[in-house]
Amino acid sequence: MHTLVLRRGKSESLSRRHPWIFSGALKPLPDDLKEGEVVRVVSSDGEYLATGHWQIGSIAVRVLSFDDEAIDYAFWHRCLSAAVGLRRTLRLFGESANTACRLVHGEGDGLPGLVIDLYGATAVVQAHSIGMHYARHDIARALTEMDGLYINNVYYKSATTLPEKATLEGEREGFLLKKADVEDVAIENGLRFRIDYLGGQKTGFFVDQRDNRNLVEKYARGRRVLNMFCYTGGFSVYALRGGARHVTSVDSSEAAVALVRENVALNFPEAQNHEAVACDAFRYLADNGKDYDLIILDPPAFAKRVSALKNALKGYTRLNAAAMAQLPPGGLLFTFSCSQAVSPHDFRLAVFTAAARTGRRVRILHQLHQPADHPISIYHPEGEYLKGLVLEVE
Ligand code: SAH
Repeated sequence: MHTLVLRRGKSESLSRRHPWIFSGALKPLPDDLKEGEVVRVVSSDGEYLATGHWQIGSIAVRVLSFDDEAIDYAFWHRCLSAAVGLRRTLRLFGESANTACRLVHGEGDGLPGLVIDLYGATAVVQAHSIGMHYARHDIARALTEMDGLYINNVYYKSATTLPEKATLEGEREGFLLKKADVEDVAIENGLRFRIDYLGGQKTGFFVDQRDNRNLVEKYARGRRVLNMFCYTGGFSVYALRGGARHVTSVDSSEAAVALVRENVALNFPEAQNHEAVACDAFRYLADNGKDYDLIILDPPAFAKRVSALKNALKGYTRLNAAAMAQLPPGGLLFTFSCSQAVSPHDFRLAVFTAAARTGRRVRILHQLHQPADHPISIYHPEGEYLKGLVLEVE
């Protein structure tokens, strides 16, 4: 194992358990360092600081441990057991009303670069770092050995999350383990959703909106609901169960529109009050926004990195203004941002600007977040990525 040395004065964030080491903080690297390998990191005085995965790029080391320990099978087993323990505390297992949850949420579970979602007995593993790519077989094996958790399939889905340019050994996508037919329907709060492991975005479903979808259900009764950026239609299905008068699901992707139709049919085969439209969100809002009194805006991340922040905030303002301008008095707006680079404060400012631009009286009813199975390490506030506001427009 190689040892990397920090430059003098660069150890403060590590001593506060921040899990990233930036490339500029490191002294020149050994020539034979292999991307993805586990490294020990020491201070310029030779004092042990952390162990993690090294990778080319601005985040050079993703810290796995602040103890001088081996990153072996026992390590993965222990970390995954801890992640399972938290979800058990959150009562996300063993209830037939919920078979989907996030089992590992990167830094929030002390495992930067790793995301695992569970859909029944199938785990979908996503590596965001090369080190996690090389650890994937140990992770898959450990997943099958968790006490009280029965996993019989592990699908690896990292084609879009690993650095494109890296030359890697092994496939970026495919089954790591397949003992049974894949159950491709997940249950969330008693509702059924088809999970598209192979073709879908992220791990096939957005489990992070579970609690916020519940809230849409609560307010949907009698309303005409517009679910913008609907993807697999999570919010739409909840709104239908909540007694919405009518629900329209809009996404620019035809594949998403097909999925939302399938999910509505799976839960409400007789529903006559749902339609799904493949259309650009801005165009749909401008042409038809006036027909709705509850609008959900859950766009893709407008800022994938900090350098894109300014334009992203303008995008959020434009989108929210377009929706606010159309809502009738008493209309509700559920608006979200899943950009990690956009802080809750920035997002609120963008929405505030939209309100001021439309001149409407707007009140904040709820402030929404990611659910508890997407925990945020207090030492890594960047992990707070999902932000939402429920607004009433007078
Ligand atoms: N609300 C969804 C997740 C949204 S993901 C859920 O609860 O599961 C973002 C979606 O926005 C993607 O499906 C993408 O196809 C869609 N999208 C991206 N740009 C768009 C645009 N300009 N107009 C409409 N949809 C768009």
